[in-house]
Amino acid sequence: MSELLKIKGIGENTEKLLGKLGLRTPLDLVANIPRAFDDYSHVQAVRSIRPGPVTVKVRFSNIRGRYSKKGLHITEALASDETGSVKVMWFNQPYRAQSLKAEEEYYVSGDFAQNFRYLVISNPTCELVSSFPLHTARLVPIYRLTKGLSAHQLRRFTKEAFNHVDVTETLPSWLREEKELMNLSEALMTMHFPETLDDLVKAKRRLGFEELFTMSLASELNKHDFAKEKALHIPFNEKIVINFVKSLPFELTSDQRKSAWQILQDMTKGSPMNRLLEGDVGSGKTAVAAIAIVNAAASGYQSALMAPTEILASQHAKTLYNLLPLRVREKIVFLSGSLSPSQKKNALSAISSGDAKVVIGTHAIIQEHVVFDNLGLAVIDEQHRFGVEQRKALQGKAREMPHILNMTATPIPRSIALTLYGEMDVSLLQEKPKNRQVVSTKIVQPEERQKLYESLSGVISEKRQAFVVCPLIEDDEKPGRGLSVAHIARQIASWIPNARVEILHGKMKADKKEDLMQRFVNREVDILVSTTVIEVGVDVPNATHMIIEGADRFGLAQLHQLRGRVGRGELSGNCVLILTDNGTTSRRLQFIEQESDGFKLAEYDLELRGPGAIYGTMQHGALDLRVAKITDVKLIAEARQAARDYIKKGENLLQYPQLKTKVDRLRTVTNLN
Ligand code: ADP
Ligand code: MG
Repeated sequence: MSELLKIKGIGENTEKLLGKLGLRTPLDLVANIPRAFDDYSHVQAVRSIRPGPVTVKVRFSNIRGRYSKKGLHITEALASDETGSVKVMWFNQPYRAQSLKAEEEYYVSGDFAQNFRYLVISNPTCELVSSFPLHTARLVPIYRLTKGLSAHQLRRFTKEAFNHVDVTETLPSWLREEKELMNLSEALMTMHFPETLDDLVKAKRRLGFEELFTMSLASELNKHDFAKEKALHIPFNEKIVINFVKSLPFELTSDQRKSAWQILQDMTKGSPMNRLLEGDVGSGKTAVAAIAIVNAAASGYQSALMAPTEILASQHAKTLYNLLPLRVREKIVFLSGSLSPSQKKNALSAISSGDAKVVIGTHAIIQEHVVFDNLGLAVIDEQHRFGVEQRKALQGKAREMPHILNMTATPIPRSIALTLYGEMDVSLLQEKPKNRQVVSTKIVQPEERQKLYESLSGVISEKRQAFVVCPLIEDDEKPGRGLSVAHIARQIASWIPNARVEILHGKMKADKKEDLMQRFVNREVDILVSTTVIEVGVDVPNATHMIIEGADRFGLAQLHQLRGRVGRGELSGNCVLILTDNGTTSRRLQFIEQESDGFKLAEYDLELRGPGAIYGTMQHGALDLRVAKITDVKLIAEARQAARDYIKKGENLLQYPQLKTKVDRLRTVTNLN
């Protein structure tokens, strides 16, 4: 028998309804954090109540049931406290008269309003003062519900569920004492049924701390394990590196210099580098990676560069080919799933013999049959976080653990970086190379749409290309009809008949997507209408215009990443943001018209809209914070310090099995998108 059925009032039907909400065990109920509270905690004297929602503490008299002339059942009673009396009525609840006991005291919450000639409290909720009130006279929890399941039921089940679970403490007592945190079972009970606002704050602090602590512990443990591994000591080959930097057709920015320096230092250490290089599209990350690759090659080590898609990988290959010095350039090998068997065989043998010094490709690189001669450096583009599993796979390919350099164009605000990526050191490329153009950005109302699209025909006749980004794939997705790639593509075709328009979206097969992208790069397509799949995308220098439909539905950091796709070449980029509805523009969107720093945009949106604004939908529970706020930098710092103390004390996770389960899961989380 399912555990839930043991709870009073839960039958098989109710069990199904709870299942729809993801609640399958009593523990799920207990862990189902309310999304808000109604404050009914203020109990008023009957004499002082005014029309509106009220709560009083009363005894009933003159209880009677009757039928109105129209056949409506009415239960009436007089509710009194020391200060006065008020009439209470229930409609079509004939059982009420039997259930009310004249000798008992009740909390009554309901709407005090005019009913015919009198002011009465209509259809109130009543609970015995001597019981544990759940719906009245308190901060009343509000949960997500589903059709057929009432708020009253869910509150009752939740309360009852506490009798069926054994809440095991997850935090060591020294930590709870030091941080003045409630114990877990008290915190959970208080989180649902707090006596005061103050108690609620304390419960949130305890549970929020635990969420952040768990994440910090996962990343600290990873960092700890990583630091214990032996790494290849790759010295700073000063002369070769300096010559290489001098040979570049541009001056490095000072952020590039600093980051390259940090990376080269990391490579000389006894434990492997695990660094995140973060910078907007075009900030020059690949150039920094090239410096590290040159340095590794100078000591005879191989490097690998991995990208999430084949097109991105081949673009990296081109970029690096142009940047790297001749003797390294000759030893680039490309590896991806699309190679022919003989190409693949050649690539694999060059990799295992050590002839290949730089291996560029997709995830094919970490597949089992790939054997390296002496892999020293792995550069990983846009994976956000290279998980334990992949790292193990890489390790299997080298005699020692290779140094790892992660690169991302997603602006990750500091608080998120600390929580999620605490195991990595971070280098920032915040400064843009000189001569870099800002993408001019303009917000327009939807009524200007047709005019705007028609103006694209000028862009096309100048042999340039455009991206159009839509929030939806199909027309029938609601709300937001008319904002789908399908619909917009049809409209464009009717407005600019000679344009070659194609559609790209995430439900297409990977090879179809790649193929279409390649045709766009080859200029066989003028306008690419797509969903946000182009976000982590491809360099198409000839694409100068972007139109984003339903722009108000996107996060600022996301909009910023999208517009980073245009203006990649000599030609300046233009981005137009079309609003969903006619009306006023929010301050939020106006901010992106003026601001060109992705980090500032991300921080701003994080404050305003939370982490979802930055990452879209979260997967893997990587940032699955239900209580803590990711913007609570102070609590984050405390949790991180606690995680370090915990490790320093040599605490054994096996003592805290629930904590261990959560930490283990987080330790293997690989990426966010
Ligand atoms: P990212 O990988 O961060 O998007 P890239 O390293 O691909 O950026 O650089 C984008 C373009 O800018 C490349 O053509 C690169 O050669 C060039 N570039 C890199 N660093 C500089 C710099 N300091 N000054 C001028 N151009 C640069
Ligand atoms: Mg890049």
